Formats: sequence, C-alpha cells, structure tokens
Amino acid sequence: MPPVNLLDFDQPGLAAFFAEHGEKPFRAKQVMRWMHHFGARDFGQMTDIARSLREKLAQMAEIRPPEVKTEQVSEDGTRKWLLDVGTGNGVETVFIPEHDRGTLCVSSQVGCALECTFCSTGRQGFNRNLQVSEVIGQLWLANRKLARDPEGDRVISNVVMMGMGEPLANFDNVVTALNIMLDDTAYGLSRRRVTVSTSGLVPAMDRLRDACPVALAVSLHAPNDALRDELVPINKKYPLAELMAACLRYLEKAPRDFVTFEYVMLDGVNDSVEHAKQLLRTVRGVPCKFNLIPFNPFPNSGYRTSRPENIRRFRDLLMQADHVVTTRKTRGDDIDAACGQLAGKVEDKTRRANRITTIRAAA
Ligand code: SAH
Ligand code: SF4
Repeated sequence: MPPVNLLDFDQPGLAAFFAEHGEKPFRAKQVMRWMHHFGARDFGQMTDIARSLREKLAQMAEIRPPEVKTEQVSEDGTRKWLLDVGTGNGVETVFIPEHDRGTLCVSSQVGCALECTFCSTGRQGFNRNLQVSEVIGQLWLANRKLARDPEGDRVISNVVMMGMGEPLANFDNVVTALNIMLDDTAYGLSRRRVTVSTSGLVPAMDRLRDACPVALAVSLHAPNDALRDELVPINKKYPLAELMAACLRYLEKAPRDFVTFEYVMLDGVNDSVEHAKQLLRTVRGVPCKFNLIPFNPFPNSGYRTSRPENIRRFRDLLMQADHVVTTRKTRGDDIDAACGQLAGKVEDKTRRANRITTIRAAA
C-alpha cells in the first residue's frame, strides 16, 4: 500500500484516520501542530508522541508537499514558486510582501476550465483539480522557505485563493484546505484574512457560505450581461442578477460586511464612463468594495491595459458614489507573477490551447 499523505487531512479527517488505525483521535491535534505549525516532515521530530506510534506512522504515512521546481524573486520582493504536480504539470504560488502584511496567492487547479478571455490560465485549458495536500502544501512550503529567509519579517498573514484555477470548481478540496488554514493547531488564520476569489459559481458560493464562510472576492469585470458573457463566459449560466443575489446571501454569514468586486481594466473594452455608471447600477444594494486590476498583458492576449487616466476616471466615478476603491499595484510582473500571468505548465485535457490555435489559423 502506498503511504497515506497526511497533508491531505484536516483535523477531523486526521482524527478519523487515527481512529481507523486504533489510535486515539486526540493525536490528530498533536500531529497537525507538528506538520503545519512547526513545518515538520519527519515523524521522528514529533517528540511528544510515543515512539511506537511514530514508527507506525513512518511505516504507513508520509508528509509530502509538492516538489519545488523553480523559485524566482522579483525586484520588488515578490516571490514565485513553480511546483511540480506530476505528469508534466506545474502550478504557481506567489508571495507578496507589503509593509503591514504578507500575502500568499494560492492555486487551486492545474489550469482552469472557465475560459475567461483575458486570463492566461484560462487560455491554457484545464488538466485537473489539485488535491488538498497540493493546495495546503503551497502554504506549508512557502512558510518553510520564508522562515529560512534572512529577512525574518516575511511571514504570511493573509492567503488569497487567486492563483491558477477556479477555487469553487474544486470545492471539497479547497474547503478542506481552508479548514486547515483556519485551524488554530495549524495556521490559525482568521476568516477575514483568507479570501476566496470566484468568477461567480452561484451554487458553490451558497455552499461556501454554509461550509466555511471566509472573505469573498468576485471577479466581475463587466457591468452588463452582454459584455460579461463575452469576458467571463460562466456569466451565461449565472448572469449578473443571480450573482448579485448570491453576494447578498453570502454576506449574511461573511466575516467581513462587504464583498470585494474585482474589475480588470481593459483598454476600450470595459473602462468607459458609461461602463462605470452602469456598474454602479448593477451593484446597487450590495455592500461592496472595488478592486481595479490593471490588465496584465501576456503574449497574444489581444487586450491592452487601460490608460492610467481612464483608470483614474473610472475610480473617481465609483468613489463619488461613496464606494471604497483600490487600484491593485502590479507586483512581480518582471517574473510573470502578476494577476492573470500565472501560467505554470498545463497538459491541457480540454484541448483548448489547440482549439484556439486552430481558430486563429483558420481566421
Ligand atoms: N478563478 C478565480 C481566481 C483566480 S484569478 C477568479 O477568476 O476569480 C484572480 C484575479 O485575477 C481574478 O479577478 C481574475 O479575473 C484576474 N485576472 C485574470 N487574468 C488577468 C490579467 N491578465 N490581468 C489582470 N487580472 C487578471
Ligand atoms: Fe479561470 Fe479565474 Fe482565469 Fe477565469 S479568471 S479563466 S475563472 S482562473
């Protein structure tokens, strides 16, 4: 039997695993603490656990995060790790240090099946969901790597599920990983400091609200259904009115009293005065903040970043309507670590990459 990877379990899961093997469930707490709080990989280190159990664990289990292929450090201190997740696939994790916090941007899938037109991950197609150990393994690895850093202030205070993939399309594994992030014996992050970003999978937003209501960001990107159908095609299934209603339901349980709407600024596509006015009408009644993301280019994207004066004009119109608006600073773009630039390495199963090339060749 191959060893069981203990990074795949949250605390209740680990307690059940111990119970199955005739061990006391409370051992789960101790082992969680060793694995996640102290970053242990070796059962021999777990000194408050009986030697016999340590030996038994070493026989049947392992603590195995994904393998780091490369590490890149940007001029602004942003770090990007490319992780090997087997059979030619790679996903990326990004650490963004700021003066008052350190944010880890975590991937949830190898590629993404949702095909947003401005997103490099979406262009690459989809291979598979990440396992729990591969999602939480990103935090496990980054913590270990940063702890070794001579500048010891680089701690992870926030996690955003904004790397590759649509987190709510890998629901069960992402929720288990979120539980580990929040668990006091593991990382002990507060629900306010963990954010799930979704392109708007309405039924899964309702399930997240009941299972693990963390902070929510919604990728809006367009103020009307016609444009959003084009940019974020999942809108055809869950149009804006339904999405806004789901945001309101989410807020009944959310740890923050607002939803963050992400809005990528695409030159000449969604950045006019009329778009801003329409956006205000669309979100009316939903407590929210806006995060404007200047489009980060990638080869053959077909889009350009909005002009700075147009981004300012858009921001001012939202602010005049009493909204809090932040414009995301582009971080780590010299190492392709900015939003939407994460490419990793996806062995596409949907053949999307081929389809696009074929369509282009035919055009
Ligand atoms: N799949 C999730 C989370 C990952 S993407 C989602 O779509 O919400 C994190 C954010 O970056 C999303 O708002 C996404 O739309 C945005 N994004 C994607 N490609 C981008 C690009 N090229 N430039 C700027 N932002 C981009
Ligand atoms: Fe997937 Fe999000 Fe990219 Fe859309 S923006 S393709 S949902 S990763």
